Amino acid sequence: MCACPAIAPAVPELLIPTAGVPSAQDLRWMREALALAEHARDALGEVPVGALIVDADNRCIARGMNRTLADHDPSAHAEIVALREAGRTLENYRLNGCTLYVTLEPCAMCAMALVHARITRLVYGADDPKTGAVVSVFDLLGSPRHNHAVQVCRGVLAEESSALLREFFRARRGQRLAQTGPKNPTERAPENPSENPPEKID
Ligand SMILES: [Zn+2]
Repeated sequence: MCACPAIAPAVPELLIPTAGVPSAQDLRWMREALALAEHARDALGEVPVGALIVDADNRCIARGMNRTLADHDPSAHAEIVALREAGRTLENYRLNGCTLYVTLEPCAMCAMALVHARITRLVYGADDPKTGAVVSVFDLLGSPRHNHAVQVCRGVLAEESSALLREFFRARRGQRLAQTGPKNPTERAPENPSENPPEKID
């Protein structure tokens, strides 16, 4: 487990991927995960979180986005959606050798699903101070009690991932205030995004 640079524009193109340092390929896949997050927001009205899984040959085998509202499914986080698709693609519930990219730190449910799936490596964007289960609230992947260790690279395009969530919740609060007015006299539409860190996603 390590703390990667928050943003890694200076990563050399040919840097060999390791557990902790994002490669050019990591940045490429994370940008695609961000596009999936935007699609979740724009097409489904979901909290914008995107994920995808690549195999050991760096081929994308599954894509996922948050679908909890659309599917009426509390487990339909982007990671779970992608894990299910990857299992179908490989016809195997074990995903050894695969890397999962996700724009937000996984919650406890998703972190444990990564262990069950034997995902080799996790690369994620923004930390989630409300429900993150890698470093923020819990440290589930670091427990030596597991029979499988997931390598972790965090903070890849973190600011982009965080800004996407911040803007989403700010817009949603603004819509609610416009429709119903403030719940209390002190409530107001936020003006400064920095006042509003990512919220719990479910
Ligand atoms: Zn989750």
